[in-house]
Amino acid sequence: MSEVRTRFSPSPTGALHLGGAHTALFNWLIARHYQGTFILRIEDTDQERSQEKFVTEILEAMTWLGLDWDEGPYRQMERLPLYQDYINRLLASGAAYYCNCPPQDAKARQAAMARGEKPKYDGRCRELNLPAGPGTAVRFKTRPTGVTHWDDQIKGPIAFDNQELDDLVLQRADGIPTYNFAVVVDDITMAVTHVIRGEDHIPNTPRQLLIYEALNVTPPLFAHMPLMLGKDRAKLSKRHGALPALAYREQGFLPPSMANYLARLGWSHGDQEIFSREELIEFFTLDHVTKSPGIFDEEKLLWLNSHYLKEMPAPELARELTPFLAAQGITEPDQDYLARVVPTLSARCKTLVEMAAAARFYFLDPRPYEEKAAKKFLTLGAVPMLKEIAARLDKLPDPSEEALNRLFTDLAQTTGQKMTNLAQPVRVALTAKTASPGLYEIIHILGREEALRRIQHAIEFAAQSGA
Ligand code: GLU
Repeated sequence: MSEVRTRFSPSPTGALHLGGAHTALFNWLIARHYQGTFILRIEDTDQERSQEKFVTEILEAMTWLGLDWDEGPYRQMERLPLYQDYINRLLASGAAYYCNCPPQDAKARQAAMARGEKPKYDGRCRELNLPAGPGTAVRFKTRPTGVTHWDDQIKGPIAFDNQELDDLVLQRADGIPTYNFAVVVDDITMAVTHVIRGEDHIPNTPRQLLIYEALNVTPPLFAHMPLMLGKDRAKLSKRHGALPALAYREQGFLPPSMANYLARLGWSHGDQEIFSREELIEFFTLDHVTKSPGIFDEEKLLWLNSHYLKEMPAPELARELTPFLAAQGITEPDQDYLARVVPTLSARCKTLVEMAAAARFYFLDPRPYEEKAAKKFLTLGAVPMLKEIAARLDKLPDPSEEALNRLFTDLAQTTGQKMTNLAQPVRVALTAKTASPGLYEIIHILGREEALRRIQHAIEFAAQSGA
């Protein structure tokens, strides 16, 4: 096979949403699987709706997801002379013509589509041989008969009756190419071998194929990916995960969780669910992409994220968690300390946001105590025991987990108290809560001084509780 070249070609008219990230990932995986080239192309010909901030956001989202590109980002607006060159070729061969009809009113077009009609250009200027001039667009002379078909790499054979297609505008009167034309010129000149995109582009494909034919160029392979649906099989909406990809970063998801999740959406490899990046690259081909839509399932995404939080090496996880700690009032945390903290939390949290909240007590005074926890465990009756624990802890210069285990076991034996009755007040003292990572690891990480300070606070609080 010649070199595989795929492209992701977003329009910067909005942020990169999950659906776009899905398309980008599939293109990236195919390029990586075949050791080919992944191209990034910004389709910015819609000058009214394109915005630079969306370009920045799209690049940032792709970088976050680890979808590195080998070529680009190309921008269509920087390639206008190239499109002009191809327009000239089509005009010269008689496959395109000038048209001075007023541009179809977009609203009238939409209204017609809403009525279930397919608004079609009537071909008024087709045989007029109009010259170029202000206000003239260039239209494609669509072959009116026959069938245009292709063997879609995902959907199988697809055919369109040419009768259904009209003479589309290739270049508007302002000299800017339309989507269907610019895409063909780009895919030809970038030597794209696989066009992998959402199935919403299927109606564009016969138009593009006819342009390839008129240019006498063999088209690339086409693969139309099933769309992503919400849980109730409705189209993705804000309620159903149609969030910008970067919103998932804000919610505390890790890039490998997202990549793993999106890869499995509409693709499978046996019943394997968890894939390393290398495995995805090794196993991913279009043969096992499903024809039917993938259903977005946030629970599964959370499940994968829990997995990757547990898997990630501590120093790396510490780095990932750091920006999330700012919301807890913790800035520039010591990375070595944080790397000791994260393993105690990674099995208990599903997102970095949750983990940051759970990590707070390691850095800051945990008070105020949770009301229920204080009421139950920081009572007058708990004071003597807390004092005893403090006295014993004071004598442990290095409270290793083993030494702490001995301390509490001895205490349980001498006092006849149940272990939980000893541990819970201390846990509330240290964390302000009744649920936390293991007590010994917490004391070990906080260190003797800090643990003693917190137990002292709890003793004062309990002594005043009057209960
Ligand atoms: N720019 C198009 C979009 O954002 C993609 C076109 C294509 O992949 O051919 O939907």
